[in-house]
Order: sequence, then C-alpha cells, then structure tokens
Amino acid sequence: MPKEISFKKELIGNFGYPVWDNPTEAMVEAAFAHHGMNYRYVTTEVPPENLRAAVAGLRAMGYKGFNCTIPHKVAIIDHLDGLGESASLIEAVNCVVERDGKYIGENTDGKGFLQSLREVIDPEGKKVLIFGAGGAARAVSVELALQGVEKITIVNRSTHRGEGLVDLLQRKTAVQVELKSWEGNYPIPAETEIIINCTSIGLSPQVVRVPVDKKTLLTHMVVCDLIVNPPKTPFLQEAAECGCRILDGIGMLVNQGRIGIKYWSGVDVDGSVMRRKIEEIYSTAS
Ligand code: NDP
Repeated sequence: MPKEISFKKELIGNFGYPVWDNPTEAMVEAAFAHHGMNYRYVTTEVPPENLRAAVAGLRAMGYKGFNCTIPHKVAIIDHLDGLGESASLIEAVNCVVERDGKYIGENTDGKGFLQSLREVIDPEGKKVLIFGAGGAARAVSVELALQGVEKITIVNRSTHRGEGLVDLLQRKTAVQVELKSWEGNYPIPAETEIIINCTSIGLSPQVVRVPVDKKTLLTHMVVCDLIVNPPKTPFLQEAAECGCRILDGIGMLVNQGRIGIKYWSGVDVDGSVMRRKIEEIYSTAS
C-alpha cells in the first residue's frame, strides 16, 4: 500500500503595518527548513482597522500562532483569550500561541534580549542605563528587573514616555529606577555596567550615532544595541573603539524567534542557522 502524503502544513503568521522590512519570516523559515519542520511562516500587512478580522481569520484557518509587531503590540490584547506572565507585566504582546484552542499573548522580546546578554555578562546585581522608553525598552527593562539588576536608569527624549516606563517598573517590579532627561551628548556615569540602546537612533537608512559623551564610555562597560539593520551600528563601533564589550541586536532577534518556535511547535531550533540568515540579509543590503 503506498504511503499517504499530507500536503497540509502548520501555519504561523506575522502581522505588522508596515511589515515589508521585517526579516523574521526569512529567519524562521531558515530554521523550519534546517530541521525539516512541516511549518510555514507567513508575513501579512494588517492595518489597525483590520486587526480583529485578521485574528478571526487565523482562528478560522487553524493557525498555531503568530507574531505581531508595530503598531499592534498593545491593541492585539483585546482580541486574545489570555496573557502569559511577561506580556501581562509588560502590557504588550509580540508572540501569540494557540494553547487548547485559545490564543494566549506572550512577550518574547525581553527574554530574547536577556538570553543574548547572558552570553556576555550576568545582569544580576548590575547597574543598567537604557536609552529609550518605547515598546522594546519596556520589554527589556521589565525582564532585567525580574532578573535582579540593581538599578535601571532610563534616559529618554520625551519626558512623558520616560515617566510612563518608570511608573510601570515601580508598579510591577522591585528594581531601583530613575529617569534622566537627554540633551546633547549624554555623559554615562562611571558606575554604569551595562548600556542598552533601545531607541531607533541608528536604524537604516538614518545610520547615525547615539548622542553620548564618548570619553565617558569606559572599558568595564558592556554596550548593547537592539538595532539589527545595520548590525554594527555607529554606537557599537564607537563603544568598541573605547574598549567596551559590545552586543548587537541580532542575538535578541534570533532568541525571541527561537522562543516563539518552541512555543508553537515544541522544537528547540538551532539559532546559528537563523543568525547566518540575518547576517546574509544585511551584508547584502549594506
Ligand atoms: P518605539 O517607537 O516604541 O520607541 C522608540 C524609542 O526611540 C522612543 O523612546 C523614542 O523616544 C526614541 N527615539 C526615536 N528617535 C529618537 C531620536 N531621534 N532621539 C532620541 N530618541 C529617539 O520603538 P521600539 O521600542 O519598538 O523599537 C526601538 C528599536 O528597537 C527599533 O530600532 C527596533 O528596530 C529595535 N528592536 C529590535 C528588536 C530585536 O529583536 N533586535 C526587537 C524590537 C525592537 P520618544 O519617547 O522621545 O519618542
């Protein structure tokens, strides 16, 4: 008797608006292919007014889950059946997982960053300075606070967003936190051990430097940038010139992708395949 062949694949989505420049599909599909997984990951442009219908469509078609990115990370919560712990603390979702017929919102951004950071330094007990107070800064700072960093300084251009993040950290975590305003080249206090750029300053095509006072970047500091395109931002180049250890944004992207795949399929995929794919994309792009 001939072996039966199934042409049906398990489906995972990715919603954003716009989303054309999001490389996640290429990275995740590289992992699916490498491990011979019967999955497809489909990137779809979903405008805010269609979000409800889009989620209903995925439910009807039996998607195992999906990623969502700007501008849906907060709005999506109204269309889900529940939230995991990180998403509930961060109050934003970037990964949705089907569990027993229910769509549960998770936040894997902070966890992805943390896994990447741990390869360079253990954050417990460290003094951290974060530039930015948007969605990525929220995810990263909440996860760092949960991991027991000693102090977080938020440096942000707009006071309003900075205050919102400080309020969130004070309400939901026990970390010591302060807000600093940002004018000109920011002088990094010498006690700082980890610096993280969570702003979009330096993102292609505006490949510019983060305004910091370069002479205050010291060799004991670990300097991280969440930006993936280009991987070696002017901020990281400057930090490397000052003798700091540096961490690019690809590790975070790969790790949040790996965590998502594990949630959807149960498979622990090889991150090096995903990193190679992203490096290949941006080396050709530059
Ligand atoms: P948001 O739009 O939510 O926040 C942007 C932040 O950048 C705000 O704090 C904003 O300050 C600040 N900012 C933007 N432009 C300037 C400027 N010219 N001067 C000073 N501050 C500025 O974006 P996200 O938090 O979602 O993303 C931030 C970055 O992180 C992006 O570049 C994104 O690509 C990257 N990222 C990387 C990930 C990865 O896996 N590696 C995952 C998620 C994000 P203000 O409040 O004053 O407007």
